[in-house]
Amino acid sequence: MDFSLSDKEQKLWERAKAFTMEYITPRAIELEKRNEFPKEVVHKAFEAGLMNLHIPTEAGGPGLSLVSETLVSEATGYGCAGMATSIMCNNLAFAPLVIGATIEQLQTYVEPLITGKEPKFGAFCLTERMAGSDAGAVATRAERAGDEYIINGVKCFITNAPQASLFTVFASTQPELKAKGLSVFMVPKSKAVKIGLIENKMGQNNSVQSEVIFDDAHVPKECLVGKEGDGFKIAMTTLDKTRAGIAAIATGVAQRAVDEAAKFANIRHQFGQPIGSFQGISFMLADMGARAAAARQLTRYAAWMADQDMRNSKDSAFAKFFASDAAMQNATDAVQIMGGYGYLSEYPVEKLMRDAKLLQIYEGTNQIQRLVASGNILKESANLETGFHVKYDGRDAPLM
Ligand SMILES: Cc1cc2nc3c(=O)[nH]c(=O)nc-3n(C[C@H](O)[C@H](O)[C@H](O)COP(=O)(O)OP(=O)(O)OC[C@H]3O[C@@H](n4cnc5c(N)ncnc54)[C@H](O)[C@@H]3O)c2cc1C
Repeated sequence: MDFSLSDKEQKLWERAKAFTMEYITPRAIELEKRNEFPKEVVHKAFEAGLMNLHIPTEAGGPGLSLVSETLVSEATGYGCAGMATSIMCNNLAFAPLVIGATIEQLQTYVEPLITGKEPKFGAFCLTERMAGSDAGAVATRAERAGDEYIINGVKCFITNAPQASLFTVFASTQPELKAKGLSVFMVPKSKAVKIGLIENKMGQNNSVQSEVIFDDAHVPKECLVGKEGDGFKIAMTTLDKTRAGIAAIATGVAQRAVDEAAKFANIRHQFGQPIGSFQGISFMLADMGARAAAARQLTRYAAWMADQDMRNSKDSAFAKFFASDAAMQNATDAVQIMGGYGYLSEYPVEKLMRDAKLLQIYEGTNQIQRLVASGNILKESANLETGFHVKYDGRDAPLM
């Protein structure tokens, strides 16, 4: 078993960490107060080759692994989860296309967005006011009219939507089939695609979300990704992959909480000694460190499985809920360790706490992750031989 990164991955990891130290961490608190898309930093990330990592080389991308993506997400998430979300959002927006579109479709619609001098953005449009966890309840409609589809509906909470040039839209082509009637479309920005309400948030204010209104948006039939009815399957396959990215941002937050709290515990003295020498504090640090380390291993393993074309639904769900719960717990503990200073906005840990909360919610809440994980565990148990048998009346006990 080899836990080391390849040379290429190690270099990317170092580059992403250096980028974070130079451009993200020093400005995260100041820029967050503006409550806007951190354009300058995201443009720098694009120039540094830290975006669009999974786009295949045939469509102008670097064709890197999901493990590589998680390295960049963890490194940038360490500096600021909001900026990491802004930088990594194209991964989510374009993943359904990498999964379901042809190379020709990627070359036509995605390549021009990722190969220019300036970054261009995609937006992943699944959620609606009445279709959150229940993604199959999407009410946005796509109706075929000759060689076109006409799309109508309203999406909400859509990350990077105000910046986006291309919208990956989940819409129903056969509403009576519910989830099985969902299809996915590439919808270029046009007058018929309008940005609605911008959401105000508790944290991750270095990222922007809004409603997107599709008002008779006409797209050529070539904008359909895969076949009609493939939408739900493509959405689920996408989330199995991209959840490792959220878990990686969460690992970054969890680790940052350990590091800030430990630095503080070394220098803050009370009762004539550093507070880190009190067992009540040092045991908290040990638990925080273990959580961050476990989150990292679960995350990289889930990404590695996807890179090996192994089904990783259960493992990416484990990674997502464990790492984001670890981020939330570690951020809360870091605030506690830093006492009153932890609660002040001049110090980074109150921001970690606000940012971490979202990691437990978006890309499938942690309750939904636990449903995915437990569903897989129960299914696997049907064929599981544990070697323990209690027979009662000739049958396995306990009996129904
Ligand atoms: C800042 C932000 C960015 C986002 N970015 C995007 C984006 O780019 N694109 C996009 O499409 N969406 C995006 N989302 C939407 C996000 O994925 C949803 O908010 C999330 O999936 C939950 O949906 P909901 O908010 O409607 O909550 P609901 O589904 O209404 O859930 C409410 C509560 O009920 C629980 N619950 C629901 N069903 C069950 C169940 N079966 N069992 C147990 N508990 C359950 C949930 O866990 C939650 O605690 C974003 C959201 C936010 C806040």
